[in-house]
Amino acid sequence: MLRFALLILLAATCGPAAAWNAAGHRLAAWIAWQQLDEPARQKAAEILATHPDHARWSARGRADDAAAIFAEAATWPDDIRGDPRFEDDRGTLAGAPLPGFPDRKRHASWHYVDLDAQGRVRAGEIDIRIPELADAIRRAATPAAAAYALPWLLHLVADIHQPLHVGRFGDEGGNAVTVENPFNPRQPFPTLHTYWDDLPGPPWLRGRRLEAAGKDLLSRYPPPVRGDVAAWRTESHALLASAYPQELGSLLPIIGEHFHERALDIARRRVAAAGHRLGWLLADLLAPGVPRETRDGGAATGKAPSGAKSP
Ligand SMILES: [Zn+2]
Repeated sequence: MLRFALLILLAATCGPAAAWNAAGHRLAAWIAWQQLDEPARQKAAEILATHPDHARWSARGRADDAAAIFAEAATWPDDIRGDPRFEDDRGTLAGAPLPGFPDRKRHASWHYVDLDAQGRVRAGEIDIRIPELADAIRRAATPAAAAYALPWLLHLVADIHQPLHVGRFGDEGGNAVTVENPFNPRQPFPTLHTYWDDLPGPPWLRGRRLEAAGKDLLSRYPPPVRGDVAAWRTESHALLASAYPQELGSLLPIIGEHFHERALDIARRRVAAAGHRLGWLLADLLAPGVPRETRDGGAATGKAPSGAKSP
């Protein structure tokens, strides 16, 4: 009974998980960066240099390194969850938005979409927001005009590849499911959502270790087909059936060794796929000298990218 009470307490104190943890987002961004040519990298760096939190990213990346700043920017939509300058979507925070920003909302509903048993969307907006943000970057007349959309796009293309971010409406994408995880002594009873978020690596993954982990993913997993947002969503949702452990521990579903190995493989493959697709999409959006009206719809249409490194 005491143990049961403890579990309830644990479940109650762990808030809803956000997304792939920071490692997943930095890895996807690192892989995307490898797909960009030098002009596109410079354009991305110019955009991020106008963001109000650029100095924070630079400090955290521990270098004035454009690739490290790009990777840090990908975690921004999770960072603002605890940032007093921003508020929950129903909040009434007074004051003007940050310069160039449309609002001061954390937009928790942008990170996911939850479907019911009939496949209908019941919560979340990730699949709507990705093409909108891509469009905002494509239309931006100045780097500053794309500064709000770019970190969001870096983040959400990775999130939509996390199977539980196209989750079950009934259990809040696994946030309402507690499991026993013998593979992480520091967090033995995570929610299923958090378990999946943490699979790509430790949240402090940066620098040379990030680079090594990124290279490892590129060597293990060949580039995916490009697809479009609808296809990425469908792929993630198809993985859901096997994202829930079936083995029962003493009280809770338990992560078994075979399940854990398979989940790790899926998580890494999805992060690699997200990185490639994000890179191809950005190669289009940031291509210099292409009249805006001739660029394809990128994520919205799934047309072949114009970037040289895409398949
Ligand atoms: Zn997220």
